[in-house]
Amino acid sequence: MACNDEVVMVLETKRNPAIWKNFDLCLMSDSHEMARCKGCGKFMKASANSTLKKHTEKHCFSILW
Ligand SMILES: [Zn+2]
Repeated sequence: MACNDEVVMVLETKRNPAIWKNFDLCLMSDSHEMARCKGCGKFMKASANSTLKKHTEKHCFSILW
């Protein structure tokens, strides 16, 4: 995962709030969108909802709940 892109801005999202309450949708400097975990700051593909959900449940559970 490329993590050397800079966040240009945090976008509003109407995506699944059960997942996205734990992530920021970030517009990156090369104009693609990434999901940033609010718990650990890790960037992940914004399109991969199942990956984001798994991350929250398996990796950041104790931070966020
Ligand atoms: Zn996390």
